[in-house]
Amino acid sequence: MDCIFCKIVNNEIPSIKVYEDDRVFAFMDINPLNEGHLLVIPKAHAATIHEISEADFVAVTSATHKLATAVKKALNPKGINLMQLNGKAANQVVPHLHVHIVPRWSGDGLTICKWELTAGDMEKIKAVGRQIENALT
Ligand code: AMP
Ligand code: ZN
Repeated sequence: MDCIFCKIVNNEIPSIKVYEDDRVFAFMDINPLNEGHLLVIPKAHAATIHEISEADFVAVTSATHKLATAVKKALNPKGINLMQLNGKAANQVVPHLHVHIVPRWSGDGLTICKWELTAGDMEKIKAVGRQIENALT
């Protein structure tokens, strides 16, 4: 499979690795949004949240928790954004699931995760909430 992140896991292309276990690999993003920006991925290829197994997603989440703690200790950011994009419509570029860990400092100029709040239609919100609840299996 021609997947750049699978190639990183298999050491076919270089990366700056910071963490590895049975299921998970983490490495520095080479186009960092901020100092310390890193990516946490499952070793087994899965394009998005819909393809990854629950066990691998739990492992990625657990490693993300460990790594966020290490980032805090190493760089002392004033905040951290976690981002995980699924599908082109959500701006995912590399189709191998990854969690971005982005350290944040006040006034760092990043506009990610910054949006204007607009009050929604409560009836519509309730109906959609019910629709999702009913779809749980
Ligand atoms: P996304 O939009 O969530 O799919 O983001 C993909 C991320 O992968 C971007 O932040 C890229 O900078 C990063 N990226 C792409 N290729 C590499 C690579 N070879 N090594 C490290 N990071 C990469
Ligand atoms: Zn892959």
